[in-house]
Amino acid sequence: MSDCLFCKIIAGEIPSKKVYEDDLCYAFYDISPMAPTHFLVVPKAHFASAAEVTEENAPVVGHIYAVIAELAKEMGFSDGYRVVTNVGELAGQTVHHIHFHVLSGKQLGSFN
Ligand code: 5GP
Ligand code: ZN
Repeated sequence: MSDCLFCKIIAGEIPSKKVYEDDLCYAFYDISPMAPTHFLVVPKAHFASAAEVTEENAPVVGHIYAVIAELAKEMGFSDGYRVVTNVGELAGQTVHHIHFHVLSGKQLGSFN
């Protein structure tokens, strides 16, 4: 999508600090971290949010979770981590290209 921030990051048109990349997804550090380690994982194929997951595009979501599990091992998140995806205004979604926040390195607060 031409006017999508994360599509531009995936294309390298906007710089980012890469964590991981393969044919299906791209992971990069959040510009405004909410934990000592905070990165985002996005599918390379654009869709807006978890509300647009279908039987067709669901495999990339499973792939992203497998990538996150592997990165968590490699990065030593043995004490735990959180994976979050915000959907829509009430959840505070600001970028409308589905992304999975991965947070670790401190005790994370409970939801309210
Ligand atoms: P959301 O609020 O949509 O769930 O999360 C969007 C995330 O993208 C935010 O945590 C925000 O800090 C991050 N973000 C926004 N613009 C940029 C950017 O240009 N580069 C990077 N690396 N992260 C960004
Ligand atoms: Zn996009």
